[in-house]
Amino acid sequence: MNGFAQHLFFGFRHRVFSSLLIYRHGWARSRELLGVSWPRRTMLGVTGSGVAGEAQARQFSSRKPKPPKDVLRHIKVREKRQHGDLLGPGIVYVQVAAAGSRDVGAALYVFSEFNRYLFNCGEGTQRLMQEHKLKVARLDNIFLTRMNWANVGGLPGMLLTLKDTGVPKCALSGPPQVQKYLDAMKVFSGPLRELELAVRPFSDSEYTDDTMTVYQVPIFENSKKASTSADSLVVAFICKLHPKKGNFLVVKAKELGLPVGTKAIVPIVAAVKAGKSVVFEGKEILPEEVCTPMEPGSVFIVLECPNEAFVDSICENEMLTRYQEGKSENPVALVVHITPESVLQNNTYKQWMERFGPATEHLILNENAPTVHNLRSHKIQTQLNLIHSEIFPPLASCQRKEEEAVLSTRYIRGECLLKYQFRPKLKWERDVVVDMNCSEFVTEAMELPDFQEQVQKCQQILAATPPSDNIEKYPEIVFLGTGSAVPMKIRNVSSTLVNLSSSQSMLLDCGEGTFGQLCRHYGSQVDEILCNVSAVFISHIHADHHTGLFNILLEREKAFKSLNKPFSQILLIGPVLLITWLNQYNTHCQEILRHINIIPANCLMEDSDILNFKTKTLIQELMEKYDLEKFQTCLVKHCRNAFACNIVHKSGWKIVYSGDTMPCDALIQMGKDCTLLIHEATLEDGLEEEAIEKTHSTTSQAIDVGMQMNAKFIMLNHFSQRYAKIPLFSADFNEKVGIAFDHMRICFADFGTIPKLIPALKALFAEDIEDMEERREKRELRQIKEALQMCKELNGSQNSAGVTPSNNKRDREENQDMEKSKKRLKDS
Ligand SMILES: [Zn+2]
Ligand SMILES: [Zn+2]
Repeated sequence: MNGFAQHLFFGFRHRVFSSLLIYRHGWARSRELLGVSWPRRTMLGVTGSGVAGEAQARQFSSRKPKPPKDVLRHIKVREKRQHGDLLGPGIVYVQVAAAGSRDVGAALYVFSEFNRYLFNCGEGTQRLMQEHKLKVARLDNIFLTRMNWANVGGLPGMLLTLKDTGVPKCALSGPPQVQKYLDAMKVFSGPLRELELAVRPFSDSEYTDDTMTVYQVPIFENSKKASTSADSLVVAFICKLHPKKGNFLVVKAKELGLPVGTKAIVPIVAAVKAGKSVVFEGKEILPEEVCTPMEPGSVFIVLECPNEAFVDSICENEMLTRYQEGKSENPVALVVHITPESVLQNNTYKQWMERFGPATEHLILNENAPTVHNLRSHKIQTQLNLIHSEIFPPLASCQRKEEEAVLSTRYIRGECLLKYQFRPKLKWERDVVVDMNCSEFVTEAMELPDFQEQVQKCQQILAATPPSDNIEKYPEIVFLGTGSAVPMKIRNVSSTLVNLSSSQSMLLDCGEGTFGQLCRHYGSQVDEILCNVSAVFISHIHADHHTGLFNILLEREKAFKSLNKPFSQILLIGPVLLITWLNQYNTHCQEILRHINIIPANCLMEDSDILNFKTKTLIQELMEKYDLEKFQTCLVKHCRNAFACNIVHKSGWKIVYSGDTMPCDALIQMGKDCTLLIHEATLEDGLEEEAIEKTHSTTSQAIDVGMQMNAKFIMLNHFSQRYAKIPLFSADFNEKVGIAFDHMRICFADFGTIPKLIPALKALFAEDIEDMEERREKRELRQIKEALQMCKELNGSQNSAGVTPSNNKRDREENQDMEKSKKRLKDS
C-alpha cells in the first residue's frame, strides 16, 4: 500500500476530506511534475491566484455561480405553443402571496397554465413563495403598482434567483423609475447578463400574452397632475383574460354531415372554436351551429391607493370607469385593493367601489389582514421554545388594527394563499389558506423519539448548574437571520440585533426581510426597538446582507411618528459601494438619504487617517451614543471591501462580528480575547474546497478562529440553506460554541446554557441530521473513490514505467475494504 492509500485507510475516522485535501495538494504538485493538468476547480485549493480570481468573480454575488442550464422545460413548452391563438387558458386564478400585513406587505400571484405573474415584490415575497411552493422559476411578468420600497424591496433577491434558475427573461411593468431602479441595483447585483429584463413603463400600450391583455393605468396624486415622481404616481392594472373557446358539439356536427372521426375535422374544429365559419362541401357552417358560445374573458383589476390623496384621481379615472356599471362587455370579476382602512373609510372611495355592481368581488390587502404567512418560522420557534423558553421566545403577532371600514360591497380580506378562481369557474377557494395551530406543532415535537427525555435531562442539568457570575441582561443578542444567500422558509438571510441597553440597539447586517423578522419577534413593540436602533453596520454589499436596510429606515421613520418621538438619523457603517447604491436609489427612485449619516467602514480600521471632519464627528457620536470604547473594523477574506467589526463597550465587554469570510488573520488579531465572537460557518466540515471557492468558512474553521482569538464564547451563524434546520456538528464543538437560530435571543449569562441545549436540539432535528449525515457519507465515499481512481491512474502511468499490474487488484481490494469500514462506521 502506498503512503497515500495508507493514510486514507488509517486516518479515515476523522475528517477524511481534510486529509484528502492535504494529499491532493501534495499530489497536485507531483501531477504537475508529471505534466498532468488538473481541472481548475480542484486547483482552486492549490493556487493563490485561483482563489483571488474566484473571489473577484464573486464580488457581486453571494450565490454559487451555476453552470449554464438547459432551457427550462416550461420555456420549451411555451415556445412550442402556437402563437396568434389567443383563445384563453382553461385555468386561471389569483392567489394572495402576501396579504398586506406589516411584516410582509402585499403581493399577488396569478396563475394560468400558460403564464405566471407577480403583482408587487416587497421584501420577503420570495421567501413566502418558496415556503408555499409558488414557483418563482415560472415567473415571466412582474407588475409594480408604485415605486416604493414596500413594492420593490424583494426584487433584487427575486431577480438574482431567476437568473440563478436559468430563467431567460422577465418583464417588469409599472412606474417610470423601474429602469433606473434596475440600473441602480446593478451596483451590487452585478450585470445580470443571463437574464433579459424587459421594462414596460406605464406609458407603453397594452401588453398581450397567451393568457390575457394587460392595460396599465397611470394615476396621479390629486394635486399633482402629471407628476411622475415616485410618491405622486401609482399604476393600476386592468387585466382582461382572453375569451374562452366554445365546446365543439359532436352530435350536431354529425347531423350536419361534417367528417367527424377523420383527420379532415381538425381544421374545421379549430376554425369554429375560434368563432370563424367554414365551408364544407359547398355548404357554409356557422360557428354557433356546432359550438357552444364563446365565453367572454373576465377582467380583474389590481389597484393600489396608498392614501387619500389618490382617491379623487382614482374615482374620476376614465379607463377605470369604463369597467363600471356594466359599461364594458367584459364583466369585472374582481378588484384587488391594496388600500389602507383610512382610504376604505372614505365615502367617495366607497361609492366608487359600489359602482362596479353586485357581481364584482373585492379583495382587500392591508395591515388588518387576519393571517399568518411564515408558518414554518412559527412552527420551528414553537418547538424550540419547548427546549428553552427564554432563549427561544415565542413569536409575536404583528397585526396592527386600524378601525375597520364598513363596506356595502361584497369584499373579502386577504389571507395568505387565498385564491380567487376565474376559470374554470368563478369562485373563492380557501382550501390551501394558511392556518396555524400551535398545539399541533407541540404534539409533533413531543412525539419525536427521545425528545421529551432530552428536554427533561437538559432542564435537570440547567437546574443543577450554578448561575452565571454575569447576571447582566445586556447586551442582549437577537439573531434575526442566520441563513446565507437566499431567504428561505426556516432561516432568513443575515441580520443580528444587538440590544446594548433597554434604549440602545444596533443592527449587524440587514438582509432582505429583516424588518419582517423584527415584527415577528417583537410584535407591537417593534416601533420602540426601531427607535432604539441608532446604528447599522453592513459588512459587505452582497444582497443577503443589506437589502433589508431601506425597510428598516422607512419603518423607523413611521415608528418615531407613531410614538411621537423626535426623528433622528441613523448612523450607517458600511463599504463605500453601498453608498453608491443608496445615492442612486435616492436620486432616481425614492428619497431615502435624509434618514442616514454615513461612516465609511474603512474609516474605522486600525490606524486609518480620517481627514473628513464630518466623519470624525459621526464616529464621535457613535461612541457616545452607545457608551463605546471602540468600534473597529477590519478587512476580511470574502469579496472586495468585506468588513468584520469589533464593538468594545466602556463596561469592558467586546463583541466581534465576522460578516462573511474565510478564516482571517486580521480578524483573529482584532478579536483577541473578545467576550463573544459571532462568526459565519456557511459550510460543514469536509467541504473545505467549496468553502474556498465561495470564500466562506466551515464549522471547524470558524471554531478554530474563535479559539485562536481566545473568545469567551463563539456563536456560529450564516449557514448554507442546505442546513435549513440545523447545521452538521463537527468533532471540535465544545462548551464554548453555540449555533444560532432565527429568533434566538441570548445574553452573556447564557453562555453556560447554550451548549447544554445541543442534545435536545439533536433530538428535535434527528431526522434532518440523519439525512445530512447520509449525504455526507455518500459524498465522502465518492471522494475516496475519485482519489483511488486517480491513484490508479497515477499507478497506471507508473506501470508504463515498470510498476507491476498487481497494484490495480490491490486498489480494488482497498476500495472494497474501504466500503466495509465505511459501513462499520455507519453502523456504530
Ligand atoms: Zn457574502
Ligand atoms: Zn452572506
